[in-house]
Amino acid sequence: MLVISALKQVANAATNAVHSATGNVTGHNNSGTPSTPIMPGGTPGTPSSKAKEKIMLRAKVVVALYPFRAIEGGDLSLEKGAEYEVLDDSQEHWWKVKDENGSIGYIPSNYVKEKELLGLQKYEWYVGDMSRQRAESLLKQEDKEGCFVVRNSSTKGLYTLSLYTKVPHPHVKHYHIKQNTRGEFYLSEKHCCGSIPDLVNYHRHNSGGLASRLKTSPCDRPVPPTAGLSHDKWEIDPAELHLLEELGSGQFGVVRRGKWRGSIDVAVKMMKEGTMSEDDFIEEAKVMTKLQHQNLVQLYGVCSKDRPIYIVTEYMRHGSLLNYLRRHEASLGANVGLLLDMCIQVCKGMAYLERHNYIHRDLAARNCLVGSENVVKVADFGLARYVLDDQYTSSGGTKFPIKWAPPEVLNYTRFSSKSDVWAYGVLMWEVFTCGKMPYGRLKNTEVVERVQRGIILERPKACFKEVYEVMRKCWAHCPEVRPSFRVLKEQLISVSQGLVND
Ligand code: ADP
Repeated sequence: MLVISALKQVANAATNAVHSATGNVTGHNNSGTPSTPIMPGGTPGTPSSKAKEKIMLRAKVVVALYPFRAIEGGDLSLEKGAEYEVLDDSQEHWWKVKDENGSIGYIPSNYVKEKELLGLQKYEWYVGDMSRQRAESLLKQEDKEGCFVVRNSSTKGLYTLSLYTKVPHPHVKHYHIKQNTRGEFYLSEKHCCGSIPDLVNYHRHNSGGLASRLKTSPCDRPVPPTAGLSHDKWEIDPAELHLLEELGSGQFGVVRRGKWRGSIDVAVKMMKEGTMSEDDFIEEAKVMTKLQHQNLVQLYGVCSKDRPIYIVTEYMRHGSLLNYLRRHEASLGANVGLLLDMCIQVCKGMAYLERHNYIHRDLAARNCLVGSENVVKVADFGLARYVLDDQYTSSGGTKFPIKWAPPEVLNYTRFSSKSDVWAYGVLMWEVFTCGKMPYGRLKNTEVVERVQRGIILERPKACFKEVYEVMRKCWAHCPEVRPSFRVLKEQLISVSQGLVND
């Protein structure tokens, strides 16, 4: 399923690029500016007590958005809603903090938010960047009258209330939260409130024109993965992994569900010996654990001391996107919005990789995974470089993913973010056909001939003109002409806004 670049130079260039890219990130706090250390005081040239007070006042205080259980020594548990003082945020993903009892330890930085910037995030009902389609599936799954969420609208800076009602039949209504000239928020002009939480409270007691009163919001929402299982941890002790059922098997061997230290769900890929250049990969794994995005499958670490080596990642309950599309063809095929949302999610993950100069090399629906709440994440990024199987090494190999490859890869094995963009266009085609094989039964040689002649895949039935236009741009013969993932993401979001007024 994976492919290796024959041009080692290209591979090395990409590795170097991500090393420096990740290097850029560490050593800075979340805002991208160097963090300010808190001075213990007393050294020569130390400012006056007033100035000192100012420095102390600048101490960063964060609030826990999710609970976190410290398992590894040196980590600190987080209690949802509690406050912590940040002592060291020089590493991107694990910060040293102090709790109210004075205990000090490392916590995952994506589990907390600066108190001053907390905004709506402290409320159970606020779900942030959740698309209309995902909000609908979440609320339908809860199936409770008056169940609601507030989410960021696809128009930046605006919010939407999504509300589930069973009257007259189960469905979800979406309401824009509007603001009047006095800056007050309202759903119906008759009932204006000074803030969104006040507005939500008002509508808890009065439907005020809504399909139902606001009664409850979804609970037990998934907690995001951490970058590695603890601070500075990427080597995992296999004795701490309890292996469970088989999830599937692929090029490298069997993948099993597991529990780390009896509490964290993981997927464990057991690498068949001789299938990958292990030492190079183990080095790279340290960098890969630092890549973190809501649309990338998180690499937790590796068990590299024994053979076979294990790759330990976040567990995704619905398995590969390709099988998910095929299994749910009947319901998904009729929901173009959901299909487009899946494409946008993959695009967001790829835009993150592109920003970090990281090339996937084997992007396809089979290499994406689906988790709870219809979350789609990109998996197996960069792994292709470490495959040893000759059949993957050149475009002539029988296992080379010819059908996802652009002309410059077929001709010169020249991988780039723009070759990922071509593959992304094919992935969009797979999504809109609910998992059909691109180019049907055509032989690889016939596909190569077509691609060289500029013949592209036909528009899938479920795919409307604007989406097909985006696919076509991904298949521009010349890589420079293809849009970047950053641009693709904007284009697809604007298509989805046009599809339905969000
Ligand atoms: P390989 O890379 O060895 O070809 P894959 O990554 O494709 O293997 O995994 C094979 C199958 O195992 C996938 O199709 C999927 O069903 C399952 N799987 C892999 N990783 C996960 C995961 N993180 N969570 C859940 N299922 C997974």
